[in-house]
Amino acid sequence: MAAAKKALQIRLPPLPSIKDVIRLYKLRALRELSQNFLMEPRLLDKIVNAAGNIEKHVVCEVGPGPGGITRSIIQRAPRKVILIEKDPRFIPSLELLADACRHKVDVDIITGDILKTDIGNFIPEDVKTDWLDSPPPVNLIGNLPFSVSTILIVRWLEMISKQEGPWAFGRTRMTLTFQKEVAERMAARIQSRQRCRLSVMCQNWCTVKYKFDISGGAFLPKPDVDVGVVTLTPLKHPIIQQPFKMVEKVVRQIFSMRQKYSIRGAETLFPEDVREEMALRMYKMADMDPVTRPFQIANMEFARIINAYSEIIKQYPEFEHYDYRAQKVRPEATEVEEEV
Ligand code: SAM
Repeated sequence: MAAAKKALQIRLPPLPSIKDVIRLYKLRALRELSQNFLMEPRLLDKIVNAAGNIEKHVVCEVGPGPGGITRSIIQRAPRKVILIEKDPRFIPSLELLADACRHKVDVDIITGDILKTDIGNFIPEDVKTDWLDSPPPVNLIGNLPFSVSTILIVRWLEMISKQEGPWAFGRTRMTLTFQKEVAERMAARIQSRQRCRLSVMCQNWCTVKYKFDISGGAFLPKPDVDVGVVTLTPLKHPIIQQPFKMVEKVVRQIFSMRQKYSIRGAETLFPEDVREEMALRMYKMADMDPVTRPFQIANMEFARIINAYSEIIKQYPEFEHYDYRAQKVRPEATEVEEEV
């Protein structure tokens, strides 16, 4: 019997501990950049292990900070590591790490905002795989800053739907941390209390796995909440096969009245004078029971509702840009507030 292949490990020269790096470079955590650092090597390894085998892969880490997760990534012998960090104070400590693995791993350090960086520009062309093949040897990993994590995942889902950026290379996998409540919502199945727009959106384009929790006490400084680690693997075919913006709009309106019958939220897709008639027509076309509650609707059923909506707006194009929210006078809501 052939012996199992031993995973390649890169041995780094002795380096100061992450705690010492923070002290040496005087890296006081900035609340406005959601800086909560993980110190414990066992937990850093656990996050990277959740990504599976990354040997010879291209790994992009979002928000490496002082480099705790980065060390664990490098030790697993990737081909290339792309680091995107907004705070320039971390660059010297990341350069120290890049130096320590020179000639073994190619490390690109990018000082910039993940929301404005096209990761695809840093991924070598030769890793490209067909969308219907197994995922490419590319991974996105990050202990994400809370301040951008929900906006980022919604933006990435849209890129997945269009096979853009890192998803122009195939079904690139993600291993990411979120505030525990957000992670639970992403993975929530029907009938679950946490089921919301984010659950439907994430599960429409990806297989979502809630891997494990990390207690807030493991971070420095300690955040007010615990953290959940999630992996996302893009699906070969989304369940709802309609454009991202249309899916987002219909699902948002249906969940906008989450305690009521789902048809109440669906009515807000249409102008007041035709609201009841159009929503009923849509539910009839979709073969949906109007008294179903939003959290009881499976993605297959959302597919039927959104296909029916698409048919209706083909017939009545004037409804396509109807925006119930624009009719209401209310303070601006953030992405995170909408999910609550
Ligand atoms: N990876 C480190 C760890 O696990 O200890 C730090 C994680 S900390 C929760 C989030 C990191 O993301 C910080 O280093 C912060 O400076 C960085 N960051 C915050 N906003 C960012 C943005 N928009 N783009 C890139 N990095 C960002």
